[in-house]
Amino acid sequence: MERCLYIVPTPIGNLADITIRAREILASVDLIAAEDTRHSRKLLTHLDIDTPMCAYHEHVDNAITDRLVAQIVDGKSIALISDAGTPLVSDPGFRLVRAAQDAGCTVIPLPGPCAAIAALSASGLPTDRFAFEGFLPAKAGPRDERLRRLKLSDQTLVFYEAPHRIVDTLNAMLPIFGGEREVVMARELTKSFETIRRAPLGELAQWVSEDTNQQRGEHVLMVGPPPKATGSFDASVDTLLIRLGAELPPRKAAALVADIHGLKAREVYERLLELKD
Ligand code: SAM
Repeated sequence: MERCLYIVPTPIGNLADITIRAREILASVDLIAAEDTRHSRKLLTHLDIDTPMCAYHEHVDNAITDRLVAQIVDGKSIALISDAGTPLVSDPGFRLVRAAQDAGCTVIPLPGPCAAIAALSASGLPTDRFAFEGFLPAKAGPRDERLRRLKLSDQTLVFYEAPHRIVDTLNAMLPIFGGEREVVMARELTKSFETIRRAPLGELAQWVSEDTNQQRGEHVLMVGPPPKATGSFDASVDTLLIRLGAELPPRKAAALVADIHGLKAREVYERLLELKD
């Protein structure tokens, strides 16, 4: 076995989703660095693996990162796992990967379960371009500010959300994205109560508020891109218009955007007035 750091995804619900390679690596490395050793012990017992474990969570200090890297440099192989899914995707591991690379160690990623990718693949939303937004800020002010900045994105947006915040988040999205925006909620993926529903935001928010079962468990929320603007205005034109329109007189902003995008200044000016409304 090569001395290196392996990034090993683990199941997000259904234990059968562990890959053959993940199992082999977990059984053969010298040490498994786990986000929560007690949680991961259950998975390892199920897999009949007794590789030693150590804790590697969000709050570990630099000394622990350095110690793990030193072990790899000394010729040991280590696997990093999180509680569920792919490490580093809204999970710990970023500092460890960088430190290992900086020390000249090889970092080998294994493909495997990830809630965002599983949800996206069955969402029915465009997947040619998407933005993973992870968890929104917990406080309403920064959360709404983030949502406003994403409003005109022309990519599918993927969010993770905690069960106690799902209703609040949907209600916060409503006035910003509008009730007609297409959204998908993917809940309890790979588990008994797996639910995937695509609907206009207004309808989905009402359904989740009224049915407390839909608030339980783990959720991925996806927001489809806004419908294509009429004429030649796409979201990138609108975004630039809004930014320049906030800094410059409207005619000047419109002229600049028209010049950059090869559009008619008069039409861009009218679009800016529309957006300001
Ligand atoms: N690293 C994980 C991954 O690869 O998906 C994500 C870890 S993050 C701390 C946990 C969040 O992922 C949950 O709050 C939820 O939003 C999402 N999640 C994890 N498992 C899920 C599942 N089975 N169904 C839906 N969402 C899930």
